[in-house]
Amino acid sequence: MPIDLLITNGQVVTPDGMRGANVAVDNGVIVAIGDEAPAAKETTDATGLHVFPGVIDPHVHFNEPGRADWEGVATGSSALAAGGGTTYFDMPLNSHPPVLDGETFDAKVAASTGKAYADFALWGGLTPTNLDKLEELADRGVIGFKAFMSNSGIEEFGRADDLTLYRAMQIAAARGLIVAVHAESEEITSRLSGEMVAAGKASARDFADSRPIIAEVEAIARAITLAQEAGCRLHIVHVSSSRGVEIVQWAVLRKDADVTCETCAHYLTFTVDDLERIGPRAKCAPPLREAVEVELLWKDLVAGRISFVTSDHSPAPESMKTGPFWQAWGGISGVQSTLPVLLSNDSPRLALPLVAKISSTNVAARFGVAKKGRLAEGFDADVILVAKDESYTLTKEELLDRNKLSPYVGRKFRGRIKRTILRGQTMFADGRIVGEPIGRLLKPTT
Ligand code: ZN
Repeated sequence: MPIDLLITNGQVVTPDGMRGANVAVDNGVIVAIGDEAPAAKETTDATGLHVFPGVIDPHVHFNEPGRADWEGVATGSSALAAGGGTTYFDMPLNSHPPVLDGETFDAKVAASTGKAYADFALWGGLTPTNLDKLEELADRGVIGFKAFMSNSGIEEFGRADDLTLYRAMQIAAARGLIVAVHAESEEITSRLSGEMVAAGKASARDFADSRPIIAEVEAIARAITLAQEAGCRLHIVHVSSSRGVEIVQWAVLRKDADVTCETCAHYLTFTVDDLERIGPRAKCAPPLREAVEVELLWKDLVAGRISFVTSDHSPAPESMKTGPFWQAWGGISGVQSTLPVLLSNDSPRLALPLVAKISSTNVAARFGVAKKGRLAEGFDADVILVAKDESYTLTKEELLDRNKLSPYVGRKFRGRIKRTILRGQTMFADGRIVGEPIGRLLKPTT
């Protein structure tokens, strides 16, 4: 019997390195990587291309149900696929109602199934009002719990105070689940922004100054202390400063806590000067930092101090991304550009196997997602074909997300995603979606 798909003559990027090989796929799974060329129903010639494991983006906001006008599952996952993504973890907000119990979890699964061009897992929300629902969320199969240590920007998703966080961490620890925190000090950020508004300060830089690095560093240290006491696995989302990474690293080296961190592609790309130039489209929290911070984050990344790079794709309609800086929605639409940002970097130390790790392998390993994250026999055939040296300037027309407000538009990239394959089926090829939305729910194996 012929196998389903044979990808020939590509440079295959594995955890151990790169080699010219064929990838044989049957029933959605990689059945062989090597010189053999078994008979196949479909053969794809990847001569001159690199074959990567599909990107796993553990931090997106696709906002269905409830706020599909901000982003929908079909559009969001299309853009993800165009950026080489085959798996995403959807945040419990800003969909409405947020995922805070079993019923809202089920509603989000229902809203995603049949629309997703990638496999997905769901985060459960952690707020002061739903500690008694965490067990039922764990039973449903959440990938972890997400909390905000500062205001979430969404009224129905309350900030987790320290005691809430500590109690939730005890519950998560008993279930072996990770707690992920948005780590910024509410006390520092709310006081500073209040003072600035009162003083009539309203520029992009004023906004950035209202959320300084100390607000991030202090909250990370506090989260680590709580997690250590609770014996809970902790993940810090979207770290924007090298000092933030350093606190995490310090805890890792002292074996204080089981803690990891991510940064986002935009913190590796844009500075506060770009925020002034681009405007609210580049507004996010924590905010974009100075150029020196961007440089330091790249160093942390190649040194292995940051586990992976995410998009934190957090879109809103254009009406919410214009106007005065304080009122504009804080969130960047970048789900299509994470891998291109990594591939466009010139650091010789950011070798392609490392790119595969920080865009895919490390995510699957950290969250216990079975059969994802690497090109190896027995793993899901989540495969992308990349023309690593092809240069292009990103245009709005190429974006597949709903509102197309990416700050990356107009930026030069090197490394073009030619095809994205999910469990053996092509989802995206040559600039457009070609597959059916077969994405399905994944659960952690903890
Ligand atoms: Zn987010």
